Amino acid sequence: MILSSTERKIIHNSIRDIQDFPKPGIVFKDITTLLNDAKAYNVLMNHLCQRYKEYNLDYIAGIDARGFIFGAALAQMLGIGFVPIRKKGKLPYTTISEKYSLEYGIDEIEVHLDAFSKIPHAKVLLIDDLIATGGTANAAAKLINQAGAECVEACFIIGLNFLDGQNKLKEITNVYSLIEVN
Ligand code: AMP
Repeated sequence: MILSSTERKIIHNSIRDIQDFPKPGIVFKDITTLLNDAKAYNVLMNHLCQRYKEYNLDYIAGIDARGFIFGAALAQMLGIGFVPIRKKGKLPYTTISEKYSLEYGIDEIEVHLDAFSKIPHAKVLLIDDLIATGGTANAAAKLINQAGAECVEACFIIGLNFLDGQNKLKEITNVYSLIEVN
């Protein structure tokens, strides 16, 4: 399912650029202005629903925290379950975890060990608002596979093309970004 140029424009125009947040030199892509624009949010979610209803997915996995907003809404529309992939220390049951590099230091994300276990070899779509270096999404895709499921695609509202994140992630799963930023 292809996103029309009109739909892409509506979504793109609803995302706000914040210069120098959270630190100098970063242009932060603020999706709160997409969420509070009913038309843009609706165009986005309808497009995702049309695209992914063909995939016969078993679960949507969303990355902490903005991936929860789009992922949980999409899972409900598709009539499938939602799985949160969270920053370390937030999930209450037994977890598996994966470390990844940040610009300075390392971070860690986790998923519940049994999150996908009700469906053998579950087909999972990973979703987040944005892919930059790809570190977070790479770790998340690996976690899905380690938990016994299959990450069939990773979906982002925004892909930052000037970083190599999408190419790296393509080595382990399909990647779909609605809006490419150069
Ligand atoms: P990365 O692991 O470098 O691909 O970073 C992706 C994560 O950081 C996502 O969860 C994004 O929400 C967030 N992020 C990174 N860069 C930006 C940015 N320029 N604007 C908004 N969010 C960002």
